[in-house]
Amino acid sequence: MTFKIVCRACHEKFDYERPLPVCPNCGQGWLDAEYEFTHPTIDPQATSNGHLAQRGQEWRQKLAQRGATLWRYRELLPLIHDENIVSLGEGWTPLLKAHNLGLMLGHPNIYIKDERQGPTGSFKDRQAAIAISAMKEAGIKEAVVSSTGNVAIAYSAYSARAGIKMWIFVTSSVPAEKMREVALYGSEVIKVAGTYDEAKRIAAEFAASKNLFLDRGVKGIAAKEAMKTLAFEVAEQLGNALAGEHTAVLNSNNPWRTPDWYLQAVSGGLGPVGVMKGFAELKRLGLVEKLPKLGLFQTSGCAPMANSFHKQLAVAETVKEPRTDITTLATGDPGEAYEVLRELIAQYGGTIDPITDVEAFNALHLVAKMDGISVEPATAVTFAGLFKLIREGKIKPHETVVLNCSGHTFPVEKHIIGEHHTRDMTLPDTGELANRSREEGLLTALEELDSRVQRITIVEDNPDAARLIRRILQAQGDFLIDEAHDGHSGLRLIQETRPNLVILDLMMPGLDGFGVVKAMKADPTLKETPIIVITAKELTDDEKMRLDGHIKALLQKGSFMDSDLLNDIQQALP
Ligand SMILES: *Cc1c(COP(=O)(O)O)cnc(C)c1O
Ligand SMILES: [Zn+2]
Repeated sequence: MTFKIVCRACHEKFDYERPLPVCPNCGQGWLDAEYEFTHPTIDPQATSNGHLAQRGQEWRQKLAQRGATLWRYRELLPLIHDENIVSLGEGWTPLLKAHNLGLMLGHPNIYIKDERQGPTGSFKDRQAAIAISAMKEAGIKEAVVSSTGNVAIAYSAYSARAGIKMWIFVTSSVPAEKMREVALYGSEVIKVAGTYDEAKRIAAEFAASKNLFLDRGVKGIAAKEAMKTLAFEVAEQLGNALAGEHTAVLNSNNPWRTPDWYLQAVSGGLGPVGVMKGFAELKRLGLVEKLPKLGLFQTSGCAPMANSFHKQLAVAETVKEPRTDITTLATGDPGEAYEVLRELIAQYGGTIDPITDVEAFNALHLVAKMDGISVEPATAVTFAGLFKLIREGKIKPHETVVLNCSGHTFPVEKHIIGEHHTRDMTLPDTGELANRSREEGLLTALEELDSRVQRITIVEDNPDAARLIRRILQAQGDFLIDEAHDGHSGLRLIQETRPNLVILDLMMPGLDGFGVVKAMKADPTLKETPIIVITAKELTDDEKMRLDGHIKALLQKGSFMDSDLLNDIQQALP
């Protein structure tokens, strides 16, 4: 498409012909693309908002003919000819509602942009698709790139398809599993014993010495333009979601929407820079109303942007020796990306916060167990960041949040879950035993598989709340769970099964929670059974009095985490 290259340092503009390493005018690195489509320069009238809005509407009509890949946004992508597209089916990943997490946090509008579902399992597939296509178009046969892991995998896959040889520089801390996948695609991998910033510098020197094309990452055109497509897709999908339709409906008539927040863990900061450019272009075309606030997170062992942001520095202090197990996020020197992001946050709101590795790993387990989403540790940093901003009240309960679920656990799961994650079952010896005793042996073995001893009854009429509580208990593994959905049947169930603990809602049809408590206390065989109340109700003083001394804990719906409930249960159980 027709676009100009604009230099961030000297503001000079150039016609795009091929990917440029630096600005031909001032020699600086940060370049942006400015499209004829959103910045018409020929007809002065065309720059009016009305004209652009009309163009936006016409564009939406054209999109109706196109399929579910990121190439549907062709007019705003930096490639001249379609025949150069190198594709593995990237883009249009699902936008999933965070059902159980949202329920637990009391935030109904949290959406997960599931970038794990890209061709190589991370959102770097977008970057690879656009960057490798642009290289192909420029006739590049060999190229150099540095990576904290996922760019290496994505670029290797796409360059294999395009017939381009990649020289990939990584640090020795990138997990072996990821490196094996890279090698499988036939890339040349060079492991640098040092930090990622050192690997990046050596890659640049190697490219210069061999006169090879060097991928510039966030400073170049392709990468930022690729990440823009996240914004385009989110606008379409969220438009559907907020109109009550399925997010995956292509070409509906629902207005496109910007979330209140875009959340992502950052290393070089490419994702949010691209996403904000995307929303800005849609706004120029009159297709969305605003740009989102940014919730960006770094691992505290390598948090140059978060630290500098909180010190209110205009230029980032670099981290010379990253100390984190989350290698994907180990960029110590974010350079200009920090300045760009800081300006965006000053204008549209948001924050850059540090997250500890422990917080990230806790979030990783929680998200997998609560909503069935298994992520890599870098992505878990984003979920931990979500929890933090909600806890601090920065994200309000009814704001819409889109969280970039940037990468899958698959390549690194061994490092997360260890060896003791299944239980072994030995089948009884078949040889000399008679059939009958063999079957008995099998039954005993099956019986032993279920070692749960503590019995918990949930009395709760709201099916979502019941599911949430059940899920928290199931994932912990030690409990037999019974459920009732009103006070009368709950009381009967408690009388029959004699549970070790009761989890009780207050507002229920028929006999309410207060009634259940009263009945249990009046029954000498049940009056010692511990009760935990979980309620959506704001209790009056009188109601508090009625419960006082009779229950072990009181939790407010939508404002407790799984660990709070499990702690209370542990305290309450005899
Ligand atoms: C690259 C990457 C990040 C960080 O993204 P940037 O926008 O480049 O800072 C986060 N998560 C995963 C899984 C990544 O691969
Ligand atoms: Zn310049």
